[in-house]
Amino acid sequence: MKIRLKFWGVRGSVPCPGPETVRYGGNTACLEIRFPELDDRLLIIDAGSGLRSLGNQMMARDFARGPIDASIFLTHTHWDHIMGFPFFVPIYVPGNKLTIYGPVSYEEDTLQGIVGGQLTYRYFPVREAELAATINYVELKEGRLDLGDGVSLVTRYLNHPVLCLGYRIEYGGKVLCTAYDTEPYRNLFVTDPAAPGYDAEMAREGEEVAAEQNRLHEEFFAGADLLIHDSQYTEQEYLAGKLGWGHSSFERAIAVARRAGVKSLALFHHDPERTDAQLDDLAANYCDREDGLEIFMAQEGMEIEI
Ligand SMILES: [Zn+2]
Ligand SMILES: [Zn+2]
Repeated sequence: MKIRLKFWGVRGSVPCPGPETVRYGGNTACLEIRFPELDDRLLIIDAGSGLRSLGNQMMARDFARGPIDASIFLTHTHWDHIMGFPFFVPIYVPGNKLTIYGPVSYEEDTLQGIVGGQLTYRYFPVREAELAATINYVELKEGRLDLGDGVSLVTRYLNHPVLCLGYRIEYGGKVLCTAYDTEPYRNLFVTDPAAPGYDAEMAREGEEVAAEQNRLHEEFFAGADLLIHDSQYTEQEYLAGKLGWGHSSFERAIAVARRAGVKSLALFHHDPERTDAQLDDLAANYCDREDGLEIFMAQEGMEIEI
């Protein structure tokens, strides 16, 4: 049994088209996941700007076979993960059916309000009420979901400034995981005994909680055939002022993948400032195929089968 993946957007934060990003791609997060044995069933993860081109392909290929029935799983509702939605042509076509899943951080918000709410005259020339497809919204929490046809989805909260879910997709013994946007957990209490506000008990507890959360994070993608992990920064950049921004370094993504016994690691959510030449240099530094773990840079247009 197989799972197929195509990257339609690999950037974080904001699209960055141009001659210097043309090879790795400038679109923000969007993954197409297909199950060839299940009549090419389609799951999409994230609706970043890469969703626009995926939607055009769906209209050319899937819609030719009949109305589209697809699910979009949003990792979270930051703009780089939802901005492609208004430009996703299948939402304008009668007969198409879409289910949009995702976490919601604040009680007064709904998933529909955040995602569909982009379609108001304030931001866009078409209103949500004019969408012709049937669109359902499902708010997700941590847990396990049976998606039918033998496909299971496990979700886990990550460490990011809003609720953000990692996805673990299991099908026929194959496992594909996403762990972005996320930052390693760390002790948030004062740990220096000489610093004001130091409390030995709190410092110890903070250490334990962070270690336990990091252990659970690893356990979530243990043994995955493919892990797509946040690696927006180098460790040097991370420590030099990006702590608390909700992203990981290449070094830490690689270390957790190794500990978790992952087979293949895609470094993902590239910083929009990185040029192709810089990503090539980083790939030469970090990408590897030794000791049972294959490490590679996610690239727009890249297709993988596990
Ligand atoms: Zn992001
Ligand atoms: Zn984010």
